[in-house]
Amino acid sequence: MPYTTIEIPLIKSCNATECSYNIKNACHARAITVGDSLGPNCDTFINRPRCSPNSGQSGVGACKMNTCAFNRQCECQADSIEVGKNDNGVQCLTFMTDQFSL
Ligand code: SF4
Repeated sequence: MPYTTIEIPLIKSCNATECSYNIKNACHARAITVGDSLGPNCDTFINRPRCSPNSGQSGVGACKMNTCAFNRQCECQADSIEVGKNDNGVQCLTFMTDQFSL
């Protein structure tokens, strides 16, 4: 399989243990997509038995939250992020509202 090497923000932890990509509070998707019309939700979250995770560490592939202070042109510029459950679902917990976007 062809591959590419890129620098992306790592996912330090994720407590959505019901996600198929989660092993012991760590995300093992190759890369996740963050953001939908409702907020900084993890758009990669899935709970299906036939989705098996890879063995490597995961990162942020794309983020649609251009209202976040870490977001530049729909790419996350943070060194790393945390993902987890809150009252709104499974979200990027590193999201921080960009004061200039208000
Ligand atoms: S920190 Fe901000 S830019 Fe980075 S993934 Fe989370 S919401 Fe997106």
